[in-house]
Amino acid sequence: MDECIFCKIVKGDIPSVKIYENGHVFAFMDINPVSDGHALVIPKKHAQNLWEIPEEDLSAVHTASKKIVRAMTRAMGPVSVATVQLNGRGVNQVVMHYHLHLIPRASDGEALNLTAWEMIPGDMEAINRNGAAIAAAIENDKDQKESK
Ligand code: 5GP
Ligand code: ZN
Repeated sequence: MDECIFCKIVKGDIPSVKIYENGHVFAFMDINPVSDGHALVIPKKHAQNLWEIPEEDLSAVHTASKKIVRAMTRAMGPVSVATVQLNGRGVNQVVMHYHLHLIPRASDGEALNLTAWEMIPGDMEAINRNGAAIAAAIENDKDQKESK
């Protein structure tokens, strides 16, 4: 899948603010964040959606998301987190490479639109800062065994 933007991110052909990586999974900050700390967790191997992704990769993505969400909580204070995953253009999947959105919120606020949010480029300084804080919290997560 040469044209896929997320495959290019996994290969490093397009830069990203990486927060976590293992054999199956790559996680990085969303460049149009819905909230501070908005991150994406993807399988390294291309699959378009929930019915295409092999179970091993599906499980790896969700296991990694648990580790990342715990780190978000430590890095950003107590948070609520929406985990959102869209399948197909009819529900506004824009990038056709399976991805789990992790959308944290440090406090209560207005309701989030979780299927058709506006793509507004975020402040790269804040994205880098949040990414570095989350990545450091993952790195410091000594209690949790590495998942493949
Ligand atoms: P969905 O397909 O679920 O609607 O969302 C795709 C997500 O990928 C969007 O939140 C969008 O901001 C994000 N995205 C699209 N292109 C890039 C990119 O090049 N880098 C990063 N970090 N995020 C991207
Ligand atoms: Zn891909």
